[in-house]
Amino acid sequence: MSHHAADDRRYWDAALETQSRADWDALKLALLQDHLRLAYAQSPFYRQHFDAAGVRPEQLRTLDDLRRFPFTHKHILRERQLAVPPFGDLLAAPERDIVYVSASSGSTGVPTASPFTARDFDDWMDYEARQFWSSGLRPHDRYCHALNFSLFVGGPCVLGAQKLGALSIHAGTLPSERLLAVLRQFQATAMWTTPSYAWHLGETALKAGLDPRSELAVRRIFVAGEPGGSIPETRQRIEALWGAKVYDYYGLSDIFGSCAGMCEEQDGLHWAEDHILAEVLDPETGLPVADGERGELVLTTLKKTARPLIRFRTGDIVSFTTEPCRCGRTSQRMLGTHGRLDDMLIIKGVNIFPSDVEAVVRALVGFNGEYRLVVEREQHLDRLRVEAERADASPHADGELAAQLARQLKAVTGVSAEVAVLAPDTLPRATHKAKRVEDRRQQVW
Ligand SMILES: [Zn+2]
Repeated sequence: MSHHAADDRRYWDAALETQSRADWDALKLALLQDHLRLAYAQSPFYRQHFDAAGVRPEQLRTLDDLRRFPFTHKHILRERQLAVPPFGDLLAAPERDIVYVSASSGSTGVPTASPFTARDFDDWMDYEARQFWSSGLRPHDRYCHALNFSLFVGGPCVLGAQKLGALSIHAGTLPSERLLAVLRQFQATAMWTTPSYAWHLGETALKAGLDPRSELAVRRIFVAGEPGGSIPETRQRIEALWGAKVYDYYGLSDIFGSCAGMCEEQDGLHWAEDHILAEVLDPETGLPVADGERGELVLTTLKKTARPLIRFRTGDIVSFTTEPCRCGRTSQRMLGTHGRLDDMLIIKGVNIFPSDVEAVVRALVGFNGEYRLVVEREQHLDRLRVEAERADASPHADGELAAQLARQLKAVTGVSAEVAVLAPDTLPRATHKAKRVEDRRQQVW
């Protein structure tokens, strides 16, 4: 695909992106059959893993047959990497063919490596370019990549913008003042950060007397790494701060820097369906949930030859739809990431995600959007306290605001929470991923 394409072209790859659902399924089935054969023939781990489960690649005749194949858990990646360093024996390509590796930032244990062959890497960048194009990025844009480059799979995505033809500024994680100076110097028209950082950076600019809406040129902000980008209330507040559109992206260190992203309609995230097969499963039963229902995202690579992943359990709770999008693209869309299975709190028997609380806090004008959840256990009962900062300009008393937030939380989540209203700038601001939950239950025991 030429990167000299006319800026008014609507799709990066029209034939692929607008094909019928039946064509998507036929394409996925053909890719999956090849990929399972490759995994069985070339990956020592998968040969043993399939044999132990009594399945062979030839047994996959429909996409539903994938359910007969065993899951790959994150701990397997860690164990095999320790057993056969440095990449583990899931590899399906010889090490001399590997040209790039990222490492997961994983909050626990040894970081796991994610290797790519040259072809895997090119496929990935072509996909990133397609996704940026769907979000309206064009060759005349100036794109500032403000994500971490250090071993992080989000880093190389800047090359997708470059492949598309945009001026690509490899900024990385600079101090806020410096990043603002870069955005201003080059009059960048687009950037990528986390949602909490986009918010923080906008506020920092305003405090320094710089109005992002009039003095900076950023009109598209790509965000990933936290559920906020798919929470309309959060997106709208970042958009108001910057006078820009916010597009949520989803990536996974073990596969691609982004595997899905919002098109200009901002209505769910188009999935990289020709690269990664997505299943949404009930985490307890392992069975698929209905279109639109929440479940755990389980992924199977379709082309990545360095290290195939078959039915990899991500621990991310998501929902998907195959309804057509207004943009004309026919790929599946992820309607949102609701959080990690590990983040799910069970308060008095009710399941609740921090992102549910975020949507409530950010919809109320009396609050500035910064919040934290504190979970405690008192005499074997879980108690949720929500701490939220009041907005500078709110004319309401703290007591009134607290009652309003508690009412809304109860109405939306079904959970009764104690609410503490804090002065603005009380909570620590995030420069990367915001820590929104403090679970003190372990210490109480
Ligand atoms: Zn769309």
